[in-house]
Amino acid sequence: MIDLRSDTVTKPTPEMREIIARAEVGDDVYREDPTVNTLEEESARLLGKEAGLFIPSGTMGNLAAILTHCERGSEIILGDNTHIFLREVGGIAALGGIQSYILPNQQDGTLRLIDIQDAIRKDDIHDPPTRLITLENTHNRCGGAVLTKPYTREVGKLARENQLKFHLDGARIFNAAVALQVNPAELVEPVDSVMFCLSKGLGAPVGSVLCGESNFINRARKTRKMLGGGMRQAGVIAAAGLYALEKNLPLLQQDHSRAVKLFQGLGSIDGLILEADQPPSNMVYFSLSKEYPLNATQTAAKLKELGVLVDISGERRFRLVTHLSIDDQDVKTVVQAFKEVMS
Ligand SMILES: *Cc1c(COP(=O)(O)O)cnc(C)c1O
Repeated sequence: MIDLRSDTVTKPTPEMREIIARAEVGDDVYREDPTVNTLEEESARLLGKEAGLFIPSGTMGNLAAILTHCERGSEIILGDNTHIFLREVGGIAALGGIQSYILPNQQDGTLRLIDIQDAIRKDDIHDPPTRLITLENTHNRCGGAVLTKPYTREVGKLARENQLKFHLDGARIFNAAVALQVNPAELVEPVDSVMFCLSKGLGAPVGSVLCGESNFINRARKTRKMLGGGMRQAGVIAAAGLYALEKNLPLLQQDHSRAVKLFQGLGSIDGLILEADQPPSNMVYFSLSKEYPLNATQTAAKLKELGVLVDISGERRFRLVTHLSIDDQDVKTVVQAFKEVMS
């Protein structure tokens, strides 16, 4: 099977399993796991922050960050197409009593600065206090869109001027840095906290890291414990994360090139409508034309018979994600499979 449903589907390679087997471990709740400590330091270094915190999932990373920044009854500003709003089971409301002020995500994944400005609450007895702005980079639902350094800086300025915290859901922040060809630390310089996933394009089996100032990370460590995310000999999975940062991070560019090839191949097929001029990172979103008789679910079933798995993101819409285990030949095979199904 060629599995393009997500970049989460990669499995640890034999070499990664070797590293896992040899990992030095200790009890991480006591801060005694040297491999976890190294992963946290290395992550913080890469992102130019003081400290890092290894977290079982991206969802828990965002939740721990927002719970640490915000008290019950406060409000955060975020986009209507964000993972936090759509795909994290309402955790910040259910567990944190935190209200969401939702703004429309623009097609390029941004929030309009004027919308953010208008959403910030005044010091009025009726209003919940605004505490935080969050952005997502790359922006999954907006086609894998990449938010630029100047835009991130503008939002950071707005946050500071209004004494707000700024959290970045950077599940795929290294994809963004690679796409922009900028240093990831410079890209996230304006944010107070950033979460990234090791388990996506980086190809580790488990884990995310939250980075920020030491004082914030110390408090987030306690929040993680409260959420049941304190881990013991977690060095076995942290070792995979360290390997991923060293060996797989430099390969992300290939995923982006293959997304472009996939996009070009699919663009030549009648009945498919591509959404962008070019895929910005490792995702290709497209739709079936009105004339094509099958819907996305039916089309995906036919593709599966040809050995191709795709993600359905709407009645007639698909998402294809390139990753470590997709090579150039796979891209050709997938385009051929679409041609066959659509003909
Ligand atoms: C995958 C993802 C997350 C976190 O997901 P987990 O599956 O909980 O690790 C958060 N934000 C975005 C944008 C994501 O794509």
